Amino acid sequence: MTLPGLLIDVGYIAASILFILGIKMLSKPDTARRGNLVSAAGMLIAVVITLFSGGLSFHWIIAGLIIGSLIGAVSARLVKMTAMPEMVALFNGFGGIASLLVGWAEYHARPDLPTFTAVAVFLAVLIGGVAFSGSMIAFAKLAEKISGKPVLYRGQQIVNALIVLGLIAAGAIWMNDPAGEYGNLIFIGIVLLSLILGVLGVIPIGGGDMPVVISLLNSYSGLAACAAGFIILNNVLIVSGALVGASGFILTNIMCKAMNRSLANVLFSGFGSAAPSGGGRAVQGEARPVSAEDAYYILEAAGSVAIVPGYGMAVAQAQHAVRELGEILEKNGAEVRYVIHPVAGRMPGHMNVLLAEANVPYDQLAEMDDVNPIINTVDVCLVIGANDVVNPDARENPDSPIYGMPIINVDFSKTTIVMKRSLNVGFAGIENPLFFKENTRMLFGDAKASLSALIAEFKES
Ligand code: NDP
Repeated sequence: MTLPGLLIDVGYIAASILFILGIKMLSKPDTARRGNLVSAAGMLIAVVITLFSGGLSFHWIIAGLIIGSLIGAVSARLVKMTAMPEMVALFNGFGGIASLLVGWAEYHARPDLPTFTAVAVFLAVLIGGVAFSGSMIAFAKLAEKISGKPVLYRGQQIVNALIVLGLIAAGAIWMNDPAGEYGNLIFIGIVLLSLILGVLGVIPIGGGDMPVVISLLNSYSGLAACAAGFIILNNVLIVSGALVGASGFILTNIMCKAMNRSLANVLFSGFGSAAPSGGGRAVQGEARPVSAEDAYYILEAAGSVAIVPGYGMAVAQAQHAVRELGEILEKNGAEVRYVIHPVAGRMPGHMNVLLAEANVPYDQLAEMDDVNPIINTVDVCLVIGANDVVNPDARENPDSPIYGMPIINVDFSKTTIVMKRSLNVGFAGIENPLFFKENTRMLFGDAKASLSALIAEFKES
């Protein structure tokens, strides 16, 4: 069955509208779940319409569907919740390589491409290649398969600039005559250079700047899909690719703002490469450990509590225990807020997802910028597995590699209780003077175990 052209267009427009509505709904926690469903419905419409738009070889599609579903189902079962950020990096990469392959297949099928299609193929290969190899490096860094530190060498930016120039030159020659004598060779050169550019573009970025790279690569994978849409002249792919590209770029900007950096500075500065641990300043003082029982007495007396989650909450899978303690504190008469830093965790929205999974009420979620001005009125800040996002050096120590990054000023509250297993550093690899402040108490141990102990104290009392 082949659908008439008008129906295909109407279906694609409906799908595009659902994508846009879905994205809009994703911007608020209370509509986010529905937004996901609305977007998924749009995708279902787009897929069904495409399947029946004619000209497709179903045996290939069915084979791909079976293999892809098997891999997807197995990896969804096997992947740990803490490995979700790496998984997202892989997804971005696969999106990129898919677009590259669409371009390659089109060129293979008809080397004598019209100029418009040749431009689209070039862009899909270039952006898709960079997104793929860059995402693989981001994956390896996040999964700690390679060092998360920036890799820098002399003349790095010159090498990168030469590769970009080489790509532009090769692209111009190839687009002018893709079916020419050396067309194939130049095309393979473009593929290889794009892949190399992705690797070389991401290795100098490390430490706390990874969130920006992840969202930028996400944006690239969308732009590559958009270019692939122009190759096969599929409107819904053009629209959805453009939406991913644009929203990824907006997110990149938000991440840059959250770290008070410009995109150029993130991409080219080699964050944290030269700074010694602690940012050149030895952290002084003594940490004050506290038992669960003592922490209970502090919390029991608190009239207001700000809960600040970080990556350690994800590692400990402590989100449900956090919600339970939040409810107990509320019943005890405290005003409870959850304050989420934009780059807490290991992927954009990481903490929001975990707290939503644990059914933390949306109205208790607070923005860093809203809480910081009044944080001195908060009785207790409960820091759960967060480190870099509450490091006062970002505010006070110009030598610190994270100097200038806005943080949640938990040290300005009356008392801060930090739950983590040791005094070890966080993702950025720098020490944290918060742990040694007068008004900080360290509740050492796995966050979930510490929370359970606290909950038990409240229940026993
Ligand atoms: P950090 O990485 O700074 O710190 C996490 C802390 O959690 C560690 O110091 C660790 O200390 C503690 N921890 C680990 N496991 C447990 C556990 N089971 N129980 C209790 N504590 C635990 O996390 P933040 O969220 O504060 O900051 C995020 C960092 O990651 C930033 O530097 C950000 O730039 C970066 N990043 C963010 C991304 C994003 O998109 N959000 C993406 C990539 C990087 P200990 O070992 O002592 O327990």
